[in-house]
Formats: sequence, structure tokens, C-alpha cells
Amino acid sequence: MAVVTGAGSGIGQAIARRFAANGAAIRIIDINSSQAESTAKLVADTGGESAVHICDVTDQRQVRETFEKIFSESRIDILVNNAGISHIGTVETTTEEDFDRVFRINVKGIYHGIHASIGHMKANGGGVILNMASIAGSAALADRFAYSMSKGAVIAMTLSVAKDYLQHNIRCNCISPARVHTPFVDDYLRKNYPGREKEMYDKLAKSQPIGRMGRPDEVAWLALYLCSDEASFITGVDYPLDGGFFNLRG
Ligand code: NAD
Repeated sequence: MAVVTGAGSGIGQAIARRFAANGAAIRIIDINSSQAESTAKLVADTGGESAVHICDVTDQRQVRETFEKIFSESRIDILVNNAGISHIGTVETTTEEDFDRVFRINVKGIYHGIHASIGHMKANGGGVILNMASIAGSAALADRFAYSMSKGAVIAMTLSVAKDYLQHNIRCNCISPARVHTPFVDDYLRKNYPGREKEMYDKLAKSQPIGRMGRPDEVAWLALYLCSDEASFITGVDYPLDGGFFNLRG
């Protein structure tokens, strides 16, 4: 059984579909019920099995109760902490409310998921945790003060958990995508460049060395591998999925 947070859209939806197509039963966690249901339908259309749990990952009690419900039905082998939001701004234009919101969802949301499930994984002899970070967590992107802070914390949490649970057969990794074309990107363009969405989309796509944005399914394939037994030697790694961002710039 695999639990995927933020599975109602974009990368999380692609991961839920890919894992289901590979035979895993999926538990979809999302705050948005219509989006979560649409993922469940897509999973069902491919012959997979899933259930929807509406839950706000910022609320520790809700997360704990959701996971307890899931544990009462089945054992969780895989947790993908994917729910996250973007935020644009420098330190000067980031308000305390913005900072706290990004921190609550992108950082505490992941802590809550791991905190709720690690004891269960230990008791069951192991498991795999995969967190969604970003290139912004380890490279400077302009105007991403709070977002970068949050993704840097995701990478640090990943390493910490990987280290602490080595002896419990729990692997913990993260993926750092560059820009991937999802509603996350479309919302950003709509909010920040109204009327210039197409022009800015092309500009962003071309700014990646490979000349385009990633596709959600490309992240899902790496997620599938990292959560599989074939990746049994991989823990404590932050995987770039970046169209050449880190090594081919300049
Ligand atoms: P998206 O906005 O398409 O999907 C995010 C999902 O998370 C949505 O279904 C949303 O309802 C859910 N969500 C948001 N807040 C929640 C909460 N409090 N509780 C439960 N669910 C919540 O985004 P995406 O582009 O698919 O991004 C997914 C992850 O990948 C994020 O962590 C993001 O930071 C990361 N990422 C995205 C990109 C990109 O370019 N799209 C690049 C690097 C990293």
C-alpha cells in the first residue's frame, strides 16, 4: 500500500497513477476533494485500487487520524510526501503570513506525514519514504525566498530521517525537480503574469538547459523506481530531476 499526499493534482496525481499501474493499492491524501476524486477515477480507469482521504497536511491531528484509519485497514509500505505550494517573493516582499503558510504546508506537512507513519513502518519491519523537494532547496532561484527555505528543509529532513532509521530498514529519499508543467506552474503564471502566460511559459521552458519543462509522469517514473525494491541500496539521497539545470547551465 502506498500513501501519496497532494495526489489530487500534477506530480502527486501522476505518482498515484504510475504506482497503481504498477500494482500498488493507493491512498490518496489531499485537501481538495474534487481533485482527489478525479485522481481516484483515473486510477480506477487503469484498473487500479485507491481510496480518498480528505486531509489538510498542516493539521497534525487530522494527519494522525487519517493515517490511523489507513493503518487499521492495511499496512503502509510507501509514503510519498508530495503536497506543497509555491510562493514568489524576496525576503522583503515575503510577509510573516506567507512565510508561515509555506512553512506549514511544505515543511510541517512532511513532518506530520513522517511522524504519523514512522512507528508503523518500524513495527512492520521497514518501509520507504519519498519527499518532494525542489532544485530551489539547494540552488539559488530568484524571488523564491520562502519556497527555497521550505525545500531546503525538506532535503535536510530527508537526510535526518534516512540516517536515524537506517537500522529499521526504512529508506528515505527526496526528488528535486526543476520546472515541471503542472497546475502549480499554470497558477503561478496566471497570478504573476496575467495576459502574458504563453510568453512567460515559453521563457520558463527555454530557461531549462533541456529546452522544455518536465512532465509529471517523468517525476512519477523516478518516484516508482526510488520506492521499489530495485532501489534497495539507495537512501539519504536528494535526486535532481532537472533537465540539466545543475550541470549543464552556462
Ligand atoms: P499542484 O499544485 O499541481 O498539486 C499540489 C497538490 O497538493 C494539490 O492537489 C493540492 O490540493 C494539494 N495540497 C496543497 N495543500 C495541501 C494541504 N495543506 N493538505 C493536503 N493537500 C494539499 O503542484 P505540483 O506542481 O504537482 O507540485 C507537487 C510537489 O512538487 C510540491 O511539493 C512542489 O513544491 C513540488 N515541485 C513542483 C515543481 C513544478 O515545477 N511543478 C518543481 C519542483 C518541485
